[in-house]
Amino acid sequence: MNRDTLVFDLIDKELDRQEHGLELIASENFVSKQVMEAAGSVLTNKYAEGLPGKRYYGGCQVVDEIENIAIERAKKLFGAAWVNVQPHSGAQANAAVMLAVIQPGDKILGFDLSHGGHLTHGSPVNFSGKLYQPLFYGVKKEDGLIDYAKLEEVALAEKPKLIICGASAYSREWDYAFIRKVADQIGALVLADISHPAGFIAKGLLTNPLPHCHIVTTTTHKTLRGPRGGMIMMGKDFENPWGLKTPKGETRMMSNLLDMAVFPGTQGGPLEHIIAAKAIAFGEALTDEYGNYIKQVGANAQAMAKAFVAKGYGIISGGTDNHLMLIDLRNKNITGKLAENALEKADITVNKNMVPFDDKSPFVTSGFRVGTAAITSRGFKETEMAEIVDLIDEVLMNAENEQVLSSVKTKVQALVSRFPLYK
Ligand code: PLP
Repeated sequence: MNRDTLVFDLIDKELDRQEHGLELIASENFVSKQVMEAAGSVLTNKYAEGLPGKRYYGGCQVVDEIENIAIERAKKLFGAAWVNVQPHSGAQANAAVMLAVIQPGDKILGFDLSHGGHLTHGSPVNFSGKLYQPLFYGVKKEDGLIDYAKLEEVALAEKPKLIICGASAYSREWDYAFIRKVADQIGALVLADISHPAGFIAKGLLTNPLPHCHIVTTTTHKTLRGPRGGMIMMGKDFENPWGLKTPKGETRMMSNLLDMAVFPGTQGGPLEHIIAAKAIAFGEALTDEYGNYIKQVGANAQAMAKAFVAKGYGIISGGTDNHLMLIDLRNKNITGKLAENALEKADITVNKNMVPFDDKSPFVTSGFRVGTAAITSRGFKETEMAEIVDLIDEVLMNAENEQVLSSVKTKVQALVSRFPLYK
């Protein structure tokens, strides 16, 4: 077959978009060339249902070695005793955990989506809210910080089987030890979903939940800067507390139940090309170079938050401990939707986001979320953060003025051209 130029021309167009835009979506990053090379390798041809050394297909010797490297590197990176690197995504990692540890109809307690939580933590439009009985905690209105008293109150009153911590749009540290203490009072398991701050946790810049939470999930493509994918970890293995049985009636260790919940529970064959890319990304994350990178991500987020505050923007919780922040537009007379659209016209990519206690719908919203993981991979430093906030402010103050948007776009081009991507 001839080269499919229709698709490849579009891929070139996307490269051009990424190269010439200012990427501020908090969940995105730019992987290294070697991570991309592995993701586009011949490993995509291989079926390997099962685990290394226990496959349902022949010819798995090479992929066994690769998957074992990914597992060992992930263990080292997070100090985990057990890891499954096969989940195709963060959502599937969470689905597998719930399949393994709770039964349909059981109560789960998660962080409210409209306060910064994730769909898979109990939203009614997601499997987690449809199959299980979701309960929520949120942030306090006065300071935007997690309402731990409410979390405890709901947990003690409702006795959920699973408490989930972690978020998509929360910029602060978590008190995992407190949540575990609450869970122990009611015999609940704790799942920490560290998809966003994983890179900070790997390098010891934020608290590692593994010693506190029974199970930890993460995506591999956000601050961790790997390929799109998911992963499940435990600090130590344990016998499942509710005597859950396999379909054959056997009681198993949690690691076994989780492995079985990934495959055959929620997935078929693992994506060995992506697992190889994960292995490479974990190898990169183990280096000091990545340590410097993630420190710079944090420094850039601090600088960006300071610049937003200086321009009179509200930040939920007043600042950030990680790579992201939620900008509150309620005092700026502009919606998140209009902000996102206007910024896009100037080649600045953000996502509109509800703010806690928002009176606007998720399609309109009163805020937007920004993160520094991707721009830091390009080499941006603190000085550029102030420049970026100036550009954002110029757009938002002139959101319907096409001339201004076009002039900001030119300034964005000039800024990003100083930091070439994939040179
Ligand atoms: N968990 C959290 C906290 C997330 O922020 C996300 C994605 O943004 C996910 C899970 C889902 O990851 P995926 O998109 O890979 O399914």
